[in-house]
Amino acid sequence: MNLKNKSEIVIIGGGIAGSSLAYHLAKLNKTDVTLLERHQLTSGTTWHAAGLIMQLRSTHTFTELAKYNVELYSTLESETGVSTGFKQNGTLGVARTKDRMHENHTIASIAKSFNIEAEIISSSEAQKIYPSLNKKCIEGAIYIPKDGQTNPVDTTMSLVAGAKQLGVSIHENTEVIDVKKLPNNSFRIFTKNGEIICEKLVIACGLWTRNFAAKLGINVPLYPAEHFYVVTEATKEATKNLPVLRDTDGHVYIKEDAGKFLVGAFEPWGKAIAIEKLPQNIPFIELPEDWDHFELPYTKAMELLEPLENIGISKFFNGPESFTPDLLFALGEAPEMKNCFISAGYNSEGIEFAAGAGRALAEWIVEGSPTMDLSAVDIARFHSFQNNRNYLQERIPEILGLHYKPHWPHYQKITGRGVRQSNLHDRWKKLGASFGEAMGWERPMWFAQKGKSTDNIYSHTKPNWFEATEMECKAARESAIIIDQTSFGKHLIQGSDSLSFLQRTCSSNVDVPIGKIIYTHMLNNKGGIETDITINRRSKTEFLIISSATMQPRDFYWINRSIKENEKVLVSDVTSSYTVLSLQGPKSRDILAKLTQADLSNEGFPFATSQEIEIGYTAVIANRLTYIGELGWEFFIPTEYSLNVFDDLMITGKEFGLRPAGYHALEHLRSERAYREYELDLTPVDTPLEAGLGFTIDWDKLGGFIGLDALIKQKNEGLLNKRLVCFRLKDPKAVLWHEEIIYRNGEIVGYVSSGAYSFNFGCSVALGYVKSNQGINKDFVETGNWEIESAGVRYKAEASLKPFYDPNGDKIKG
Ligand SMILES: Cc1cc2nc3c(=O)[nH]c(=O)nc-3n(C[C@H](O)[C@H](O)[C@H](O)COP(=O)(O)OP(=O)(O)OC[C@H]3O[C@@H](n4cnc5c(N)ncnc54)[C@H](O)[C@@H]3O)c2cc1C
Repeated sequence: MNLKNKSEIVIIGGGIAGSSLAYHLAKLNKTDVTLLERHQLTSGTTWHAAGLIMQLRSTHTFTELAKYNVELYSTLESETGVSTGFKQNGTLGVARTKDRMHENHTIASIAKSFNIEAEIISSSEAQKIYPSLNKKCIEGAIYIPKDGQTNPVDTTMSLVAGAKQLGVSIHENTEVIDVKKLPNNSFRIFTKNGEIICEKLVIACGLWTRNFAAKLGINVPLYPAEHFYVVTEATKEATKNLPVLRDTDGHVYIKEDAGKFLVGAFEPWGKAIAIEKLPQNIPFIELPEDWDHFELPYTKAMELLEPLENIGISKFFNGPESFTPDLLFALGEAPEMKNCFISAGYNSEGIEFAAGAGRALAEWIVEGSPTMDLSAVDIARFHSFQNNRNYLQERIPEILGLHYKPHWPHYQKITGRGVRQSNLHDRWKKLGASFGEAMGWERPMWFAQKGKSTDNIYSHTKPNWFEATEMECKAARESAIIIDQTSFGKHLIQGSDSLSFLQRTCSSNVDVPIGKIIYTHMLNNKGGIETDITINRRSKTEFLIISSATMQPRDFYWINRSIKENEKVLVSDVTSSYTVLSLQGPKSRDILAKLTQADLSNEGFPFATSQEIEIGYTAVIANRLTYIGELGWEFFIPTEYSLNVFDDLMITGKEFGLRPAGYHALEHLRSERAYREYELDLTPVDTPLEAGLGFTIDWDKLGGFIGLDALIKQKNEGLLNKRLVCFRLKDPKAVLWHEEIIYRNGEIVGYVSSGAYSFNFGCSVALGYVKSNQGINKDFVETGNWEIESAGVRYKAEASLKPFYDPNGDKIKG
């Protein structure tokens, strides 16, 4: 078939990602679609995948994306006539430790939310399901009977057959050599078989995506790593009905493969390989075997499955796969370029996620925006530094290992550290800071006592930093704390249309007096929250927007994307210009008063206002704000002046009990006060009404704002069917983090979006969206019998629409 010279959508890459997208676009009646593959279909990474299929992930969002795989792969053959090789023989996830059993329980709870069958079983029960299993080395297991394994090549060919039957054009041996963006936002694609113009372009080139996307100036941080499995000789032990065996503590998985065992690994430390070191431009790449590297997982496999000791190996397979710096794939419209989409970086889970990701991206392309919460995998989340080769080369081996390492709450990666540092870094270090990383920033997480180690000892119930964090939280509530929040994203909006632009895009009224601070959101057309920001009006036409560190790149792109062609608005990233110190707590005014002439009274400096004040030698922007629920100020200090301001604050604060505090304390304190956090409590599928943030909406703003119609509709429909609710456990021992299941009167109604131990109350607090067709109001919340399930145990809880700490905000008004 000759290449057409025009196609509405062109997909580059004929692996499972591109093929699934082609199939799902066709299902949505988009059939003017052309898929271009430089060699044969599946010849990149897809052909050699082991094909394990799991529906459950460690979070609700990812389970939502993954679980469709079983539904699709088990029915595709009947639709397309091409077999997928899908076999629903289940997964047996064994645990060698109690902590791993804890994780299994969490996954089993998530299964309940989705009505996915999953059972926690003993080691003896596990052995009944898998007779050759050595039960002595395990504590127990999770059994998920409807999981399975598929043949990646057959599954891809079945997707391609489905797409073709609906009219999609598929071209093999058609390498895309170059691509040019045309002035009308379409693309001219140059292949070795001719040119083609398209309105929308999708780059699904697997591990080659990073370099290909760079031709268009698009940032896709991913990097190849070697990925291994071995196939044994045929053996009678490898019977067809065996489930996939997953031994995360042993870093191995084992599946039956045509009467043999396939033993694959996610070894603790992977082997990154630069793309230039891979064989160039050949299909079906195989890399040399490396028994030294494979020794640990294979030893563990033999420990678990003793017959392996006496079975020979028929094949050692080593193939390249792409990994991303945060272990999450990259999906969606490239922030740098309209109409160009990415689907790549599958971290060795491309077969599992291709079904859900293909459908989600097809809907995004057809509808113009995502139809579900994809913020965690949104390509716009990455910062440009993450595409640095040295960073990737160092980070990727750790990432590969993380698949099977314990999933500790607040785990800190150890590679690619020290990328971005506040200029107070050394001061914090001297004070005993244990640092954590967010978007490359090194941030104090907690402060060790003098002479004590700053290393983290992780736990599902009581990590070693709790002791220090408790003292920091106590100081915040009783005296004062100082936190380095330099990692805030800071964007300056300027230009004659800046006000009208912000009025159109923000849900609050931004036309406020100079010096007023507004907490607001930018919404999508469905009223969902896209950015959670604070705006400081600096002049008639200048606004300083503050975002969280992790959301900064995405916010930057969302703001830029929202500017209309003729609007005179300039967005500058001024993140590096300011060090941010937050002085919080009942004694904060007393400390500050000793250092400045400014009137700090409620009348002279009301809450949610900003003034330029002098501290010592320096003029700083002082914002009277809090994220912990106390009297406090955030200082934006021109970077080079920050050391002297810091020293002044620390010296003066001494007599008032001022204490340095870290991000863990911030998390515990903001949870007590029920302040929302983006990505956890707020996402693009939550509206401000559902999030309990109706007070931020200006319903009467002249000209309205993006998302207003959806909010009006939601308001007019009466009681909400989904609402963020605050919880407090009655049991003082249980510790909540996130994802725990919420019950009302014995029925599952939601899950915890963020939880933390409250040292103030002596029990855990949490936030979570509750769903009910009955409609949710104060009465619904107060009359319910609430429980929260953590690791299989149900704990009684109190529920409230208001925060449990300082419900009326009296302390803030201090
Ligand atoms: C050993 C191993 C075991 C694995 N096991 C599993 C598993 O059990 N479960 C699971 O879910 N995942 C597994 N994976 C991962 C899975 O194979 C990948 O995540 C998935 O195949 C990625 O699919 P893709 O379509 O993104 O990339 P690919 O399959 O690499 O497809 C990209 C395609 O783009 C083409 N291309 C590149 N550049 C161009 C160009 N310029 N013009 C035209 N075409 C181009 C390439 O030729 C290639 O065919 C495993 C991987 C390995 C290595």
